Amino acid sequence: MSMSDNVRARMAEGSWIRKMFEEGAALKQRFGEENVFDLSLGNPIMEPPPEFEAELKRLVENPVPGMHRYMPNAGYPETRAAVAAQLSSETGMKFTPDSIVMTCGAAGAMNVVLKTILNPGEEVIVFAPYFLEFGNYIDNHGGLTRVVPTDEQFVPRLDALEAAITANTKAVIVNSPNNPSGAVYGEDLIHQVGNLLQKKESQYGTQIFLISDEAYRKIIYDGLKYPPVFHHHRHTIVATSHSKDLALPGERVGYIALHPECSQREELIGGFIFCNRTLGFVNAPALMQHVVRSLQQVTVSVDEYQKKRDFLYSHLVEMGYSVVKPQGAFYMFPKSPLEDEVAFVEQLRQWNVLTVPGRGFGSPGYFRLSYCVNDATLEGSLAGFEKAARESNLC
Ligand code: PLP
Repeated sequence: MSMSDNVRARMAEGSWIRKMFEEGAALKQRFGEENVFDLSLGNPIMEPPPEFEAELKRLVENPVPGMHRYMPNAGYPETRAAVAAQLSSETGMKFTPDSIVMTCGAAGAMNVVLKTILNPGEEVIVFAPYFLEFGNYIDNHGGLTRVVPTDEQFVPRLDALEAAITANTKAVIVNSPNNPSGAVYGEDLIHQVGNLLQKKESQYGTQIFLISDEAYRKIIYDGLKYPPVFHHHRHTIVATSHSKDLALPGERVGYIALHPECSQREELIGGFIFCNRTLGFVNAPALMQHVVRSLQQVTVSVDEYQKKRDFLYSHLVEMGYSVVKPQGAFYMFPKSPLEDEVAFVEQLRQWNVLTVPGRGFGSPGYFRLSYCVNDATLEGSLAGFEKAARESNLC
């Protein structure tokens, strides 16, 4: 057989979103695009903010000589400086450009970080439900994924985290606002996670990294804020991107930020730069680095997403669904009315509503909805949710 057993097994295991994508394409062909309500993908519906278009136009009309050449693998010094200045103002800490490495999206950032820190067989803890790619990224670099449960509100349980940490734990990944639950972790929790990691570091004489995937940091509702994780653990690495806050997922631009006082900081940053190159990314896309430099304070309209959340949440609750109200990102993770959520997702599909089973995120018994879609799709999906609720005796 030509393909590796591991790749074959991982493709089969994590194929839920792809499966829904393929089924959605077939349904759209059969019933027409406007009659299929696809809530399965996290592809932002919004266009990038006007400042993006203006900056792109300005650059194209006034090209900087050499702007398409190779550059330092860490990225343009000016872009790293702009990111560092923004982080300094958000955190009150002193970030310098040499704590930042520009990457190909948050996915690139996570792979670079994990490749840099992991020895074969070392463990990385994730909290279920989680973005399933984390498991693939950890596996890419020889690590082992340890899944730790959250509570009913999808908040990590400290007792479960403590029980899961061993001398072999290299990192804990937190993702807030969370895909798929929309949970935003409070400062208290992050503080306690930081304290716990420090306690375990002393107990085992190890270094345990807190890797914070902040792809949705700027998409938070109701005036909530996600506190800077850097304040709570010295061995913190942030991996993020402009895929969601500037609606640029196809442009692949993000960054890694390392705590300015992390031990072996220079060695680690050198490792990130080396891995950015040798994983084959080489550097984050040049044009996008030029553009996002001046857009560090710009974000898509979060109010638009909040309206969509409110609309969908209120209707689902009225129909009898059990849903934890998301505080950020653009996903919802309701409880499945049927024990087997794959059967329920199938039921919804019969009404042309596409969602993803919770087992695609390490949490069977739930299903994920993505509300970064246009209003007509959200409105059109309600009839299917209503019928599926009736079939499941919810109302
Ligand atoms: N991390 C999380 C939690 C995500 O949901 C996603 C994309 O949906 C990514 C990382 C990947 O982001 P990017 O497209 O910037 O690589």
